[in-house]
Amino acid sequence: MEVCRTIESVRDMVGKARGEGKRIGLAPTMGALHIGHVSLLRRAAEECDFVVVSIFVNPTQFGPGEDFDNYPRPFDRDLDICRKSGVDIVFAPTAGIMYPDENLTWVEVEKLTEPLCGMSRTGHFRGVTTVCAKLFNIVLPDAAYFGLKDAQQAAVIKKMVADLNMALEIVVCPTVREANGLAVSSRNKYLSETQREEASKIYASLLKCEELIAGGETNSSKIVRQMREILDEIAGGEVEYVEIVDAGTLAKVETVKGSVLAAVALKLGRARLIDNIVCRIIQPEAQ
Ligand code: AMP
Repeated sequence: MEVCRTIESVRDMVGKARGEGKRIGLAPTMGALHIGHVSLLRRAAEECDFVVVSIFVNPTQFGPGEDFDNYPRPFDRDLDICRKSGVDIVFAPTAGIMYPDENLTWVEVEKLTEPLCGMSRTGHFRGVTTVCAKLFNIVLPDAAYFGLKDAQQAAVIKKMVADLNMALEIVVCPTVREANGLAVSSRNKYLSETQREEASKIYASLLKCEELIAGGETNSSKIVRQMREILDEIAGGEVEYVEIVDAGTLAKVETVKGSVLAAVALKLGRARLIDNIVCRIIQPEAQ
């Protein structure tokens, strides 16, 4: 496994692999790797011949007052995890390499970035799409791997790739959870043991949604009310949103039909936690 610090070196090595006819997979990350990331790396290693991981805490996707400075950066541990997960190249640029001059060119996906996390994290998705477009241009992967844990991000990236005719496949992998159901996240490091237990109620609220929909409930407001009752039990938790949206457009739905995304964001201590679940309603067959 090689660690590349410059754009030239990663382009050079990936270019050689491409020249040998290898399929290139990329998993963009901000490091502090955990089993959720590893699931992406393993999938990439299964489906591709050459796996690139980027580790870059991207400053342009953090807003003022967010945790950019405190974001965990356990780089040596990350390298160990990559080595054990079949990674060929770790691309770990500095901010100066990725943004050498004032950045004047931004990639912005409209509409999909407005609801959910877009309501409170102004500019966040613009930073994500811009850095992913840059990484795609640097690595030129055949496929890039993202987690469903960040469902809105995955939808936004897919739309960018489609709208800009980028020649790669976006693969979205299932959310990896801790034993108690809490979605694994680099930000779980900010939680105490007690808070981690409390935070498992986020998943409990999503399962409640799934159960209600499976039982035939289609009224979103009623579902959200019951989810909220569970979320309100989280000691010290502050719900930012709990919503049921169309899984494709991310627009709020009043009546559940087709595929919907139930999504939650909640602040707990120093952490802002997000999670979601996709529910499909089976339409009765037309007579
Ligand atoms: P991050 O390092 O948080 O930017 O995440 C990098 C990638 O890993 C994103 O595509 C995330 O959606 C994905 N990811 C993070 N946590 C999980 C998880 N628990 N399960 C699956 N994928 C995840």
